[in-house]
Amino acid sequence: MADLEELYREIILDHYRSPRNRGELDSPPAHRVEGFNPLCGDEVVVSMMVEDGKLADLKIAGSGCSISQSSASLMSAAVKGKPVGEVRRLISTFKGMMSIHEASLEGDGHPESNGTNGAEVVAGEPEEIDLDKLGELAALQGVVKFPVRIKCATLSWNALAQGLDEVAAQAS
Ligand code: ZN
Repeated sequence: MADLEELYREIILDHYRSPRNRGELDSPPAHRVEGFNPLCGDEVVVSMMVEDGKLADLKIAGSGCSISQSSASLMSAAVKGKPVGEVRRLISTFKGMMSIHEASLEGDGHPESNGTNGAEVVAGEPEEIDLDKLGELAALQGVVKFPVRIKCATLSWNALAQGLDEVAAQAS
């Protein structure tokens, strides 16, 4: 497992140092959503173009910790060009990966400070999370060992979900 953790760390660092799809699209016509995580001071700006039921383009701007920025970069690489329905499923899969662990951490108090070997985080009852489908995004699952960082990881995803909702509302 050490090798896997090392790989995950490298993926996160790679996306932090060389963020994908960096910048902003002209808005309009692009739709723009800002997200802010006051717990950590992370900011993210997601601008997106939805065309013909697809997330035709998106760009990420903002600044913050390595988790928030690498998560936004990983997200952009995973969803760009995909049909909106597929993007929504990926958002819920990703948030499921985060929230399952969040729930299991709430269950046992202080996993990092009670002296037990807290290396293993075991989810109570697994809803189906298909890690294969997540690809590189699986690298972020290690974040759940640090509950305060979960909001860093989900910041850009929440902004994207909000943006898709707003675009859908405008279109109807
Ligand atoms: Zn952060």
